[in-house]
Amino acid sequence: MSSLIRPRLFAALGALLLLAIGGVALLTGSSAKADPLSPTTHNLVLGSQGSSSQQPQSMEEFLTAVTTDVDAYWTQVFKDSGLQEPRVSYDWIPAGQTAASVCGDSDGTLGDSAAAYCPGDDTIYISQKFASDLYSGNLDGSLPGAAQGYGHAGGDFAVAYVIAHEYGHEVQDELGLFDQNPGVPTMNFELQADCYAGTWAKSANDAGRLEDGDVDEALQAALAVGDFDTSSPGHHGTPEQREEAWRNGFEAGDPSACSSYLNA
Ligand SMILES: [Zn+2]
Repeated sequence: MSSLIRPRLFAALGALLLLAIGGVALLTGSSAKADPLSPTTHNLVLGSQGSSSQQPQSMEEFLTAVTTDVDAYWTQVFKDSGLQEPRVSYDWIPAGQTAASVCGDSDGTLGDSAAAYCPGDDTIYISQKFASDLYSGNLDGSLPGAAQGYGHAGGDFAVAYVIAHEYGHEVQDELGLFDQNPGVPTMNFELQADCYAGTWAKSANDAGRLEDGDVDEALQAALAVGDFDTSSPGHHGTPEQREEAWRNGFEAGDPSACSSYLNA
């Protein structure tokens, strides 16, 4: 979908704001290439029903396919509200590689732990290694909630949740919510992004694109990425808060139901 991509010069004065999925620790251990996805092990049906030949065959393709699906949802939502369609770039960072970003670390790059939307360069960055490890369940121990016994992150819809969450930050950026709410804590934006991820999932569910287990995978992943670092400015919400936010969005099926998170 060409409209998904908005080539953009890196904004030197862009906000150095990294909106990650959670306090994910840097991963250790051997590097791995993106695991090829078996068509029989992911059940988010994308594209035409029954067109199995169009199913993603790699993590890179899966990330793009889900992002395209999420983008189509928000394009319709914006259109229904009389707004121009959202535009965002994405970068699926290959394992062992880095991407230059104004939201990067001290080297100015994002790498194997990346799962973020960067407002400064209007790009969603997701590491293919991160996504593959999340998909396979290998990331679980390094997620703050899961490390304390909350949730279990794994499966295709855990990855889809992360994508939809990051796209939720893109929606916040498009709507000017960061600028309009300068004093609102990070957590409120994070929970709203979880809520937005839930409204997208509801639309996919209503269109028959989810299968049994997908909703639970999202809820388990939301629990797993929650954290208890409540005194930190980077606190994203407790496992219960994040699960509730996704569930609220899913049950409402309406993004306006997510507005309350910025008024909390
Ligand atoms: Zn976030």
